[in-house]
Amino acid sequence: MTRRVLIAGNWKMNLLRAEGEALAAALAENFAADGAADMLVCPPATLIAPVAAVLHGSAVSVGGQDCHMKPSGAHTGDVAAAMIKDLGGSYVIVGHSERRADHDESDATVKAKAEAALSAGLVPIVCVGETEAERDAGKAEAVVESQIRGSLPDGATETGIVIAYEPVWAIGTGRTPTIDDIASMHAHMRKVAASMLGGADALRLLYGGSVKPGNAVEILGLADVDGALVGGASLKAEDFLAIATAAG
Ligand code: PEP
Repeated sequence: MTRRVLIAGNWKMNLLRAEGEALAAALAENFAADGAADMLVCPPATLIAPVAAVLHGSAVSVGGQDCHMKPSGAHTGDVAAAMIKDLGGSYVIVGHSERRADHDESDATVKAKAEAALSAGLVPIVCVGETEAERDAGKAEAVVESQIRGSLPDGATETGIVIAYEPVWAIGTGRTPTIDDIASMHAHMRKVAASMLGGADALRLLYGGSVKPGNAVEILGLADVDGALVGGASLKAEDFLAIATAAG
């Protein structure tokens, strides 16, 4: 089974409009559609429309960083999945560890958000990952398995969702798990997902946490790693493009 690599950038709460448009323009201009990878950027909600306008007609897709679990209604400050779709989005990140921590999001919340994304026609990128204390206690695989079992949306299919493994302690720290640890976690994740979906050969599993041009070739070379979710390095066109090139 050939799975197309997905290189996804999470801009988090960074960049004003002119900066986001300039970054998107640099990606659109330099990312070749005929390579081995798909490229996605997830700007802050305020920039989805202008970034989508810049990326229109290019090989780079746009997505959201979060969505509400409800399709519409009295939820001040929140963004519905259909609103992201309406602006040209095709993916949405749900359950990022920063949202799980900052907004107390449980697996049940993440699952409901992923279901809202599916209903709106978006591909949810469901994030999971252990804390450093959980890894030190030897519980990393159990924690990630439990998050997958609790967070995957009803109605998920192998090609309709993406799962991103992001160890909390590796995000923005410059630290990464060993290559063997990434390999064994991804193999475990595929097994767990297969038991829920009836198969996972076509399911894309991303690794996230301090991915840079210098470590991308090794990480993306792993059999069960089908792309990367990139934070800091996605804010520099040169670095993000180099990571995409590392996909082969
Ligand atoms: C992230 O927050 O999704 C992430 C992977 O961040 P970084 O690449 O900066 O570690």
